[in-house]
Amino acid sequence: MTENKKTPARPTLKAVRGTRDLLPDQTPLWNHVEATARALFARYGFGEIRTPIFETTELFARGVGEETDIVSKEMFTWEDGERFSEKKLIEAWRSANADQVHFQGEEVKLPGMKGAGVDLIVYRKATNTLEFVEFKSKATLEAMHQLVANIELARSSDPVNYGRGKVIPRLVVPAGRARISSSSQLTPGGVIEEIAGDFFETTQSVTLRPESTAGVVRAYIEHKLGETGQLQKLYYIGPQFRRERPQRGRYRQFWQIGAEVIGPQSSGSESPLRDAEILEMLASFLDELGIRDWRLELNSVGSSEDRVRYNAALREALQPIKHQLCEDNQRRADTNPLRVLDSKDEADQDLINALPKIADYLGPESKAHFDQVLAALDACNVPYHLNPRLVRGLDYYTRTTFEFTVTTGLGTQNALLGGGRYDGLSEMLGGPKAPGIGFAIGEDRLILTLQAQAEADAATSGAPIASTRLDAYIAPLTPTQNPAALALARELRTAGFSVEVGDGTFKLRKSFDIADTLARHIILLGEDEVATNILTVKTFATGEQIKLPRTELAKHLSS
Ligand code: AMP
Repeated sequence: MTENKKTPARPTLKAVRGTRDLLPDQTPLWNHVEATARALFARYGFGEIRTPIFETTELFARGVGEETDIVSKEMFTWEDGERFSEKKLIEAWRSANADQVHFQGEEVKLPGMKGAGVDLIVYRKATNTLEFVEFKSKATLEAMHQLVANIELARSSDPVNYGRGKVIPRLVVPAGRARISSSSQLTPGGVIEEIAGDFFETTQSVTLRPESTAGVVRAYIEHKLGETGQLQKLYYIGPQFRRERPQRGRYRQFWQIGAEVIGPQSSGSESPLRDAEILEMLASFLDELGIRDWRLELNSVGSSEDRVRYNAALREALQPIKHQLCEDNQRRADTNPLRVLDSKDEADQDLINALPKIADYLGPESKAHFDQVLAALDACNVPYHLNPRLVRGLDYYTRTTFEFTVTTGLGTQNALLGGGRYDGLSEMLGGPKAPGIGFAIGEDRLILTLQAQAEADAATSGAPIASTRLDAYIAPLTPTQNPAALALARELRTAGFSVEVGDGTFKLRKSFDIADTLARHIILLGEDEVATNILTVKTFATGEQIKLPRTELAKHLSS
């Protein structure tokens, strides 16, 4: 008798809260949105840029601002340790061998070595030990440093299998990196010493990008794109990460489609035309996608000088009413008064609406710039609403700021996209003066809006939401026809048709049922069909079933 032992059920694993899987019934819409963006942006002269998904934490601290919610509490940050430290090694080595190792000038000598130096150091990950391998050669401290650096490279192809005195096949020392004289060829002698210890140090803090503007401007500086003298028009599509409280339209991993226009002043990057062009492009994008009820909210936050004056006025106006505001706004009133204007706290709204308006503090240049943006938008018939409270509480934001909202589908998270001018950002990141303007569209929210619109339309028209079907489903009638079915599928797919293949073990009824959910046609493939090349094809939309020669199949599927 066998005992029926039940293995305990393992807990199922789920996607992390705030992250989502996009399944094949959803991705076509995502791809459509992205393809529309790519095609449209290309018509405006934008090129795609792909920057890393993680960057140094400092980039965001400087480029987004330490005071922002994003940087102060929403970033996914970790220490990128695991970096081999030569310094630590040398120190450990020196102290472990203080009485025996003699440093003669830069040359390192170990006990028992007649004029031979240490050439090779192997890190053993499993035991976290370093082993010194003797070579019949002399090595200077410099050569040893270089070798350590090389071993660091080799370590990336862990594990390094190393036995006492044996050759180390995995240890690749690339020529050119280790500039060691020919007398120092790598001929292992044997282990002479082991030092245990932690020779790794944490070298930098890195962060999953919470937005992409900082990364794009970093790349602009790093690759000296400004030196071309030309205006850079760059767009990106990709995931962003913020540790926010998840809710509909707000995720911890979400997608943004964004663009930046940046360049030296001489390239015209400061021109109000650029601002208007970006806004007009966004209006065209939303129109082209069929977003119906978008609303453009627009404001100018002025130059940094204007903002100094405005900030002072705000601070002054906030002092006497501060105690009546919510806790967050009380803090902001001191740290970054502009951000009080961003507040959604219901109870504070009347007080905030009565605060001084930035429009009254714009200098003549900022005002003229903004007026030209508005004039260009009027000329293009792009409707907008001036919103004096639309400020971005970041130091580098200047002049034009904007947001597009929608009323369908998003509930409280109704901001579809946001952006603005950031004339000082490049300099804040240590780059040259490079005025710029950009935006980031929340792609998740765009999709939610499109889905909500489609559902509303289906509800009013009674039409089901269109689903895409494959061109054909091939049903082999027995397993013998499986190979022929795959060969026919290959032929049709090569000719550009979308095809699924069933299995000969399926009952005919099942093949029809699957085919009817997947495809427009079913092609039956039995012994006769394979022998005669006369195929049976049924078209689901009409219910028509015909026999036709294989050579006419493509024409029939296209009709
Ligand atoms: P921001 O980079 O904060 O200006 O955001 C630009 C756009 O990205 C917003 O208007 C939203 O549409 C979208 N967005 C921001 N945060 C999230 C999030 N956590 N989940 C989904 N979309 C977001």
